[in-house]
Amino acid sequence: MLNNKDIIIFGAGPSGAAVARKKAEEGKQVLVLENKDVVAGNLFDYKNDKGIIVHKFGPHIFQTSDEDIISFVKRFANWKEFRHKVNVVIGDKEVPLPINFKSIDILFPDKAEMLKQKLKETFNSDVTYIMDLLNVEDEDLKELGKFVYDNVFENYTVKMWGISSEDIDQSVLKRVPVRLSYDDGYFSDKFQAVPTTGYTEFIKEMLNHENIKLKLNVPVDLLEIKDGKTFIDGEETDKEVIWTGAVDYLFRYSKGELPYRSLKFELETLELDSFQDRAVVNYPADPSMTRITEYKKLTQQEDEETLLGVTTIGKEYPGSYDKASKDFSIPYYPVIKKDGLNPADVYFKEAKNITNLKLLGRLAEYKYKQMAQAISDALDI
Ligand code: UDP
Repeated sequence: MLNNKDIIIFGAGPSGAAVARKKAEEGKQVLVLENKDVVAGNLFDYKNDKGIIVHKFGPHIFQTSDEDIISFVKRFANWKEFRHKVNVVIGDKEVPLPINFKSIDILFPDKAEMLKQKLKETFNSDVTYIMDLLNVEDEDLKELGKFVYDNVFENYTVKMWGISSEDIDQSVLKRVPVRLSYDDGYFSDKFQAVPTTGYTEFIKEMLNHENIKLKLNVPVDLLEIKDGKTFIDGEETDKEVIWTGAVDYLFRYSKGELPYRSLKFELETLELDSFQDRAVVNYPADPSMTRITEYKKLTQQEDEETLLGVTTIGKEYPGSYDKASKDFSIPYYPVIKKDGLNPADVYFKEAKNITNLKLLGRLAEYKYKQMAQAISDALDI
């Protein structure tokens, strides 16, 4: 299997596929080994029986301002650009998220002008973050900060991460700013888009190169580390190995299991033109659900005539990853706390001594990265 191969990559998600493509274009012979019977990892999507593209593992929007990454991804798919917008339900109101001047107008009609004026004067910027808003001196803004913290961040974060907003690494919360303008976009990147034929096809196209050999249904335990050396199917190898799976599994949990968050999705197909105003609506106050995605709004299929009168929604429920559980057996997110300590460091220390091994991607690097970052890191390896 390894004959004539220069690099062996474990995992055909975005990280594995991007690094495979890069090495293949450099003239290397690349072998990609994937445990599942499909590619794309947690980007996997499919067309359901109504013709709606469903993102099986949660809503994905590609966003970046990096020109090199934009050019790279455009080679493997046609993209429909759109500005992702999200609403959040607070009490009996549904307002744009990130909280912005429009949200403030709806939530506090009597005080909105005063609050917006004070926000502009205090921050002198287009954007701030919840923890900064909580720490201002002005009593009205402090109250606003407390309101946003209680109604948008705290419950959602406890559900999502199993810990309070105060204990999670603050870069996680900074993904959702507070905007001091009427800009109601969820992201601010120049390029925000979805591939017209879906992410699975995009990843397949990336892997479609004469120097890449892809094997599916490969046993997950094929790669083993023993005494600081790499073994594939029981044979020691000094070829370059790139691992994109969970780092604790690679070392067979020798230093303990790492915490991950997992997700469960409940899909429903409804006989409606439209279920909600936005592709994604968040429900911080719901006891267990975080958000609802209406897929045809996300995949920009709303205009397809065959989809009139039908729509598919996905309700998202987070939980603690447990490989033996029915609903939460897939690791999605590493849990990085505010203390700055990365629980995976014990494994990184061991991996560093194995010169032919590289860890790449969200699960292997134990890092909360989004798609463009995963691809950028893979191209930089
Ligand atoms: N968040 C929140 N309330 C919301 C939306 C987000 O508290 O309504 C926090 C939460 O901690 C979440 C983080 O902000 O995990 C990042 O949100 P994002 O929508 O980027 O999450 P992802 O799409 O990566 O799951």
